[in-house]
Amino acid sequence: MPEITPLPLAQLTTLRVGGTPRRMIEARTRDEVVAALRDAWADAEPWLAVGGGSNLLFGDAPFDGTVVLVRTSGVERMPSPREGHVRLRVEAGHSWDDLVAQTVAAGLRGIEAMSGIPGTTGAAPVQNIGAYGQEIVETLVEVELIDEATGDVTTVPAAELGLGLRTSVLKNHYGSVAERSAVILSVTLELEQVGHGAVPVTGAQLRTALGLDETASVSLAEIRETVLAIRARKGMVLDDADPDTYSAGSFFQNPVVSAEFADTLPADCPRWPMAAVGSDEDTVIPLDRFDGSLPPRPTGTPPVKVSAAWLIEHAGMRRGFSLPRSRASLSTKHALALTNRGTATAGEVAELARLVVQRVQSEFGVLLQPEPVMLGVEL
Ligand SMILES: Cc1cc2nc3c(=O)[nH]c(=O)nc-3n(C[C@H](O)[C@H](O)[C@H](O)COP(=O)(O)OP(=O)(O)OC[C@H]3O[C@@H](n4cnc5c(N)ncnc54)[C@H](O)[C@@H]3O)c2cc1C
Repeated sequence: MPEITPLPLAQLTTLRVGGTPRRMIEARTRDEVVAALRDAWADAEPWLAVGGGSNLLFGDAPFDGTVVLVRTSGVERMPSPREGHVRLRVEAGHSWDDLVAQTVAAGLRGIEAMSGIPGTTGAAPVQNIGAYGQEIVETLVEVELIDEATGDVTTVPAAELGLGLRTSVLKNHYGSVAERSAVILSVTLELEQVGHGAVPVTGAQLRTALGLDETASVSLAEIRETVLAIRARKGMVLDDADPDTYSAGSFFQNPVVSAEFADTLPADCPRWPMAAVGSDEDTVIPLDRFDGSLPPRPTGTPPVKVSAAWLIEHAGMRRGFSLPRSRASLSTKHALALTNRGTATAGEVAELARLVVQRVQSEFGVLLQPEPVMLGVEL
């Protein structure tokens, strides 16, 4: 087993905080990942899989358990039963952004708007990563995972992962444990072969972000470059020289509230109506799961997603805000990112997060939910 001298999580997470675990395994092959996990589970000891550490707030105290660093890589191209598409099976530790770059270079459409998201491909389904209207749920076919409950490796279709807005059954949300304790070994995506020429841009949110109208066509490479430039301006592309990127990306999820509640918020708070399931798209029920009954049509007005960044700034916490003597602050580019200005502790990040939650709740009556996975930290 490739056991290494444990490193502090402060060196392995993009927030640059976190104590040192008792054991650390650097698993470079799928067999090593499986063996390390089975070993930790056999001893019933605390454990954590870590990819790029870009969605983790890890406490300052030493961790009395095993951290398994998932460092596998590789992409296998396979035919797809769908005309004009191919499938890619990607090892869990493969860098997500390297994968996006590879697909764009190969003329494959489906994940280009998610350029610049840090971390590994295996962690991507855990919170159903998304950006500019694209989410991995749209292209994910299946994952291979190893379940803690059985120790077995199985292939699980995307439909069984409970993928939703920054969530899945595999995510350890703050205040609760994951519905299914498992580690992804590989991810299979289905992408469309569109080549290198200009193609119509699908998705209104992406078109808006790129400043394009419905008739516009651009190449995948142009989409990637533009997305990377927009993200860099917001401090959302990792950059060692820029402390605004010493973060976990958006620290809070955009809250989803009822349309009635959204009406009570100031009119200039940005909001996006959520599509009601089945309202404007057909619901597809796989034949082998169709039991003769149809799901009920949704009633009432669909819920509304509101801008957490706007709520934070209008609760009096501007970009760059920090508590006196704290080394954690809101990013100077984006109020939604909590950042480490160099030597902050997890405690300082959590203190700032608590204040943001309290201010937004007392000003607007909205309880912000943290997006990163937290271990050994209380808000
Ligand atoms: C600057 C910045 C910008 C970001 N922008 C976005 C964005 O636009 N959209 C978005 O959705 N997210 C964004 N994020 C969040 C983050 O990059 C993603 O959630 C990413 O998928 C996390 O991958 P990771 O490998 O770093 O996961 P880690 O932080 O290592 O782990 C996160 C969680 O997943 C678990 N995990 C890790 N690997 C596996 C595995 N193989 N199987 C099962 N569980 C696993 C961990 O145990 C942990 O619970 C951003 C983060 C940063 C720092």
